[in-house]
Amino acid sequence: MNYHYLMMTLPTLPTNSKRGKLSWTGDSKIKIEWEDGHASLYTLTYLRRACPCARCKQWPKKEADGFPALPEAQARNIQANAVHPVGRYAIQFMWSDGHMTGYYPYEYLRKICPCPECTTKRIPLA
Ligand SMILES: [Zn+2]
Ligand SMILES: [Zn+2]
Repeated sequence: MNYHYLMMTLPTLPTNSKRGKLSWTGDSKIKIEWEDGHASLYTLTYLRRACPCARCKQWPKKEADGFPALPEAQARNIQANAVHPVGRYAIQFMWSDGHMTGYYPYEYLRKICPCPECTTKRIPLA
């Protein structure tokens, strides 16, 4: 895997939220450093599966907390062509499969933080 290639293809992240600071990690994860000091790391696959739009939530096996069950195999190769701010409260992904109707509020992103500490506080998402 060529690091320079990855840097060239990862879209710019919104910088206008006061809730948290977004950045790309070297292994193409999105990192959010929250205002309270907590940090979250998300793979794009995880975020695509967590799309909160009405269409994804209707996916046959809806999880208890609304986390849709787009199969991981289907989400794995989907990339983000762009990431746009939605005001200051949310971000929107332009996914490489053409999907773009999901707004991800920062509040929601914090709720689905995949770190062990946050994971133990909620229903497993897997
Ligand atoms: Zn969706
Ligand atoms: Zn966390």
